[in-house]
Amino acid sequence: MQDHAGARRAELADALAAVRDRIDRACAAAGRAPGEVRLLAVTKTFPAYDAALLADLGVTDLAENRDQEAAGKVREVAGLRPDTPIRWHMVGRLQRNKARSVARWAAEVQSVDSPRLVAALARSVRTAVEAGEREGPLDVLLQASLDAAPGRGGCPLDELGRLAASVTHEGDFLRLRGLMAVAPLGVDPEPEFARLAVAAEGLRRDHPEATEVSAGMSGDLEQAVAHGSTCVRVGTALLGGRGLASP
Ligand SMILES: *Cc1c(COP(=O)(O)O)cnc(C)c1O
Repeated sequence: MQDHAGARRAELADALAAVRDRIDRACAAAGRAPGEVRLLAVTKTFPAYDAALLADLGVTDLAENRDQEAAGKVREVAGLRPDTPIRWHMVGRLQRNKARSVARWAAEVQSVDSPRLVAALARSVRTAVEAGEREGPLDVLLQASLDAAPGRGGCPLDELGRLAASVTHEGDFLRLRGLMAVAPLGVDPEPEFARLAVAAEGLRRDHPEATEVSAGMSGDLEQAVAHGSTCVRVGTALLGGRGLASP
């Protein structure tokens, strides 16, 4: 057991060093300071134990894409590392009936894509705060749709302004922090991240506090950093492949 744990820890440490090196190089190439890009480890499909090891290695921004999997894992990790403050992020498609659960465990939701979801999250945060289940407001990123593919979630670029206004309207419970996007499959991500950067700049004109641009994953973080990403979401390159059956 100890050997296995030690081996996994070493594996994660190596992968983390490689990912941090990629981020540093991408920042250098773009003339940006390395501290401008935060690393979010996407722990979906991996056990709580891996999340705890990542936290030991200093990665305390963790992300999940399904409430069903996350709610239990968050509790488990809290049990494994009671003294480590971890910020959990929801990055996957979120149904309104899951808002109440997500409000208990998430510091930030990056996949907000409709005014109805905004309303459900605001109500849920209020209830969670009143019940003593969370302390402050929920940080929110608007998920921008770069490919207008209906199944994949995200708000069309020309509706982001209206969606942002619905978030700031719930200012007691939600805090607008910026934009998130996933590059469409099978195309050069570079022009897509360039479009996202323009949308992010537009959003900042009306909402100067919305400075986050969450873009870039294992396969395209360099291109995202070149176009101003402030947050890369990395799963595979840190934790390994998720296999065929995984989302
Ligand atoms: C799974 C996932 C990631 C991480 O993807 P990798 O290619 O494994 O790095 C990033 N963002 C979202 C929204 C995801 O669902």
